[in-house]
Amino acid sequence: MKMNRQRSAEVMVRSRKIFPGGVNSPVRSFRSVGGDPIVFSHGRGKYLTDVDGNTYIDFCGSWGPLILGYSHPAVLSAVEKQAARALTFGAPSEEEVKLAEKIQTWMPGLEMMRFVNSGTEATMSAIRVARAATGRNKFVKFEGCYHGHADCLLVKAGSGLATLGQASSAGVPEACVQDTITGVYNSIEGIEEIFARWGGEIAAVIVEPMAANMGLVLPEKGFLEALRTQCSTHGSVLIFDEVMTGFRVARGGAAEAFAVQPDLWTFGKIVGGGLPAAAYGGKKSVMEHVAPLGRAYQAGTLSGNPLAMAAGLATLTAMEECDAFNRLEKTGQALDALVQQHLAAAIRSGRVSFVRKASFFCFFFGSKQPPRNFTQVASTDMNLFNQVYHRWLDAGLYMGPSGYEVGFLSTEHTVDDVERLVRVVAESI
Ligand SMILES: *Cc1c(COP(=O)(O)O)cnc(C)c1O
Repeated sequence: MKMNRQRSAEVMVRSRKIFPGGVNSPVRSFRSVGGDPIVFSHGRGKYLTDVDGNTYIDFCGSWGPLILGYSHPAVLSAVEKQAARALTFGAPSEEEVKLAEKIQTWMPGLEMMRFVNSGTEATMSAIRVARAATGRNKFVKFEGCYHGHADCLLVKAGSGLATLGQASSAGVPEACVQDTITGVYNSIEGIEEIFARWGGEIAAVIVEPMAANMGLVLPEKGFLEALRTQCSTHGSVLIFDEVMTGFRVARGGAAEAFAVQPDLWTFGKIVGGGLPAAAYGGKKSVMEHVAPLGRAYQAGTLSGNPLAMAAGLATLTAMEECDAFNRLEKTGQALDALVQQHLAAAIRSGRVSFVRKASFFCFFFGSKQPPRNFTQVASTDMNLFNQVYHRWLDAGLYMGPSGYEVGFLSTEHTVDDVERLVRVVAESI
């Protein structure tokens, strides 16, 4: 069934005149999957409605924040109450303290933190602070991990287990990436090689402890442990970028789920409950380098914005009240069972592989095994993904428009919803 998206198309004609590619963030443009972006009007619970009045079951959740679905009553009411008091102070408020204290009850290792406005700011600042704390310049990231768009993080990998300093974006001077070392995800040998070569110069290792920006790639046993060991041995700061996994993979994030403690964390997405907020924090001995306590400068006019703080606090509180992690795990297990039921033969023949952890899920096409790193992800069948993607849309199921993205379950999804998702895959391949 083809949906009428006339009005979406009309709005996009206007958008393209004003915004580069018609969007305010590139992946929204549908370049990856082909076709035209859908322009949305409103959301309620698991449902998302576009400007033509078509309704979809949403598995994107605005790229992660909406773990409770759209317009959760407790979140809306918290935002409305705060809006009546003030939209911003640019001065301390109790809201930011309340959210920070709530986060600490979920993540006791987080001794000190700071709120910022986006995940990009959080990772950029965490790296600056790690450099300030160690007095070193180099840091390590892994190919396929996304940490936002700060200059020093826009690097591409070459061949081999370690690459130094190649920008992946125009407009990034070589000088900005000359200290960025790129490693291979899940390669213990790779990280050992990097530290053997540059150990004393490495300020930090930043990693998505479960990679969710190249589809879903789980850390293999020993990988995060090796990062921890190398960082501890060489006095480098281990940064877990939990912008995606924080408050979603487990109460204590990936650090708890995979039982490895970083020195610093970065958060975003869920922490703002759908409004722009993010955070970085961790060991007091590192965070004390942040201004005005220390000499690493970092600031923000709207940081700790009371509206975003209220939305974040209401989201975490509602998650506690509805036992969100258990609920999501039950839906996730139902999804696993449905995949086994409808896709077992396709999995055996290597037509598709499926990965799920907590409320994250991902289908890779044309891949016998779930990929372990970016090179393997990039060699999956993205054309087939794109075909399935449009079938999902036609069946009224919305996902992030790229084969390099993951699907998200919310507490609103039922077994019926995930069954529809799996049926479309089974029918498409
Ligand atoms: C989304 C994301 C970011 C960037 O966050 P923005 O708020 O989009 O700047 C950074 N790291 C990870 C792991 C992310 O998923």
